[in-house]
Amino acid sequence: MTVTSAKNNEVRTINHKSAAELYNHFIGYDQHDFFAHAMEFPFILKRGRHEIARVPFLLSDDNNMQFVADIGEGDQLQFAYGDINTMLDSLGYCQRELSAFQPQAVLVYSCISRLNFLQENVGLEISPYSRISPAAGFFTYGEVDTLNYGDNILNATIVSVALSEDPPLADKSVTLSDDCSAGLGNRSDLARLKRLMHFISKMTEKLQQANEELRIISEKDALTGIYNRRSFMLRLRQETETARQNHSPLALVMIDIDYFKSINDKLGHQAGDQVLIEITHMIATELRATDFLARYGGEEFVLILPCTEINGARAIAERIRQSVELRSQEIQGMPAITCSLGVAWSLQGGMPPESLISKADKALYEAKGQGRNRVVTDA
Ligand code: GH3
Ligand code: MG
Ligand code: MG
Repeated sequence: MTVTSAKNNEVRTINHKSAAELYNHFIGYDQHDFFAHAMEFPFILKRGRHEIARVPFLLSDDNNMQFVADIGEGDQLQFAYGDINTMLDSLGYCQRELSAFQPQAVLVYSCISRLNFLQENVGLEISPYSRISPAAGFFTYGEVDTLNYGDNILNATIVSVALSEDPPLADKSVTLSDDCSAGLGNRSDLARLKRLMHFISKMTEKLQQANEELRIISEKDALTGIYNRRSFMLRLRQETETARQNHSPLALVMIDIDYFKSINDKLGHQAGDQVLIEITHMIATELRATDFLARYGGEEFVLILPCTEINGARAIAERIRQSVELRSQEIQGMPAITCSLGVAWSLQGGMPPESLISKADKALYEAKGQGRNRVVTDA
């Protein structure tokens, strides 16, 4: 989700919807105990490569969400939840790291949200350390990390400090248990929580996977695997805007296979499909990393060439035309194939996408009219 309206760490809308309503729809909260509930289900925010938690602490009178830490328009968010299994894993990691230091005492301070989440299982925070040395701790509101990427207020963290007045003994070995919850005995509520969180994380994983698959399906053409017309339109709008801002040229090439209907008629529809896949490969190998290829429709392809002048665009189109003609002759079992290409361009990206398409389309029509297997440039 994206924060779409925010000011002074007060978020009004997420994905253009009321942030409070969205949060209530998915998480559901008690108006009178909002902070306690929100601490159990914070947001996760992406900052560069890092993910940090953000907890809303108050709903204002006009239903905006107030945060103690920085959050602003454009921030990418997702819902999060306390995962007991992740907590146990990280406690196991801390226990191993700290054991090597051979502490005489361990001091732990954790975010209040962990207390909220663990409730009567709060002993979990120090129990892994209790087995190596005396351990004690307390809970705080708000932690600050200054280690990796500037000052950052964090939520839901645990800080464990190993203390010793003696240097570590080289030969002292510590026996560790992998299961950090062992010290808590066989509490059925903790076991239930572990299974429930396992279920939620597996469901979330599946949903994320399904979303990723849906995204690919909605962007790509099923037969050729390249972008579809919908993606092309989105990309052309973006490239037009970039070209307009940077006063850079933008070229468009429409490609249509010649007499494709007769290939289908002679060889059958399946062989026709195979030809479309082969032609896609041929076109794709002629492109630069910044060029964008899509299937525009049936046997028509379209190419967006950013920062490309008319001569450059014509040269690429001609290269594609020759490649299709020559390589289709070389591939065994493939009929000789040619294509016609129409090229249009906009000097400083000032042309609306629809006009650029219509100019390339006209040039392509002209190429067909002049006998096919040729490149025609918009006059
Ligand atoms: P022109 O040189 O004028 O472009 O002639 P053409 O035969 O290529 O053009 P026309 O528009 O008459 O025919 C296009 C054909 O492309 C008709 C249609 O069956 C075929 N076609 C469209 N999509 C697919 C597809 O996904 N697979 C196959 N096998 N054929 C397709
Ligand atoms: Mg056609
Ligand atoms: Mg055709």
